[in-house]
Amino acid sequence: MSTILVVLEVRDGSVRPVSHEVLGAARALADESGASVIALATETCAADAAHLGAAGADRVLVGAAERHSPDGAAATVARVAKENGASCVLLAATARGRDQQGRIAALLDTGFASDCVAIDAKGPVFTRPVFAGKALIKVQIHAGVAVASLRANHFAPAGRTAEAVIESCSSESGKSEVVEISAKSAGRPDVAEAARVISGGRGLGGPENWHLLEKVADAVPGMALGASRAVVDAGWRPHGEQVGQTGKTVSPELYFAVGISGAIQHLAGMSSSKVIVAINRDKEAPIFQHATYGVVGDALEILPALADELQKLGLQ
Ligand SMILES: Cc1cc2nc3c(=O)[nH]c(=O)nc-3n(C[C@H](O)[C@H](O)[C@H](O)COP(=O)(O)OP(=O)(O)OC[C@H]3O[C@@H](n4cnc5c(N)ncnc54)[C@H](O)[C@@H]3O)c2cc1C
Repeated sequence: MSTILVVLEVRDGSVRPVSHEVLGAARALADESGASVIALATETCAADAAHLGAAGADRVLVGAAERHSPDGAAATVARVAKENGASCVLLAATARGRDQQGRIAALLDTGFASDCVAIDAKGPVFTRPVFAGKALIKVQIHAGVAVASLRANHFAPAGRTAEAVIESCSSESGKSEVVEISAKSAGRPDVAEAARVISGGRGLGGPENWHLLEKVADAVPGMALGASRAVVDAGWRPHGEQVGQTGKTVSPELYFAVGISGAIQHLAGMSSSKVIVAINRDKEAPIFQHATYGVVGDALEILPALADELQKLGLQ
């Protein structure tokens, strides 16, 4: 039986939610082809058999590394893929996943498809956006093992009733190790993975007005903060919050673009959001051409009213 190998991403000892989405994609592929799904954490972590089984894993291999090593983890993945005759290696298109995919493909002497938003099991054929989201291309890898990273919020955990078998495995050591990750988002979800995002642009006038966005985000469960590049370049917000061509790609259920003009480079990072709400005082702003709902007005007046209404709903 062939195997689909999913590389789990571990942060602070736990498997990140985006990896459950990748497991769901792997399960759908496996169900079409009769393959099994092996999930591999190259670092030690708390692996929940019911949770990972429900997401789609048949077996979970938990490595022995105490810290993430980019080259060590890739070597572990390549070895486990070979040992188990994997036909496909899937990982999340996060910063770490993007770093890993090329290393893994090189070690397996194959190609990779990056940042995929759909998979057709026949092939498999991977669909990925190109040209800043203006076109989609379909990619098939003919070199044996197919390596692909999957964009967050495009696939769902399988949602089945099953327990995965948890096993331990060895991990290759690498030449470099990540010794610290300093998140600056003060406990909010990562903008690339959140199901709801509120982003601010230059129209907010300055960093002193960001509390208005934060108040809205505080009223909605799991809402992350994002920013345009203009704001990041001005030093108002950290680069980790930047959405767009040279920032993060997001595909949330709900995306607020506040005081953001809608430049093509910003759209490249958020145009696949399911519902886009634009707040801008210029009714000709390009963002309105892409918005599901548009509010023409001063963000500094609209945001407090929006936060008040959301708080009344008691969503948190
Ligand atoms: C190679 C390259 C890569 C890039 N990568 C990115 C990227 O990853 N992400 C990104 O975002 N940009 C990126 N850019 C920059 C991009 O071209 C734009 O310059 C940037 O997105 C503009 O940011 P903004 O919309 O916040 O600012 P502006 O374009 O200045 O727009 C501000 C908007 O706020 C509105 N406004 C003003 N005051 C108010 C108010 N009180 N209430 C409501 N609305 C108000 C204005 O009407 C205007 O529409 C890139 C550019 C290049 C060349």
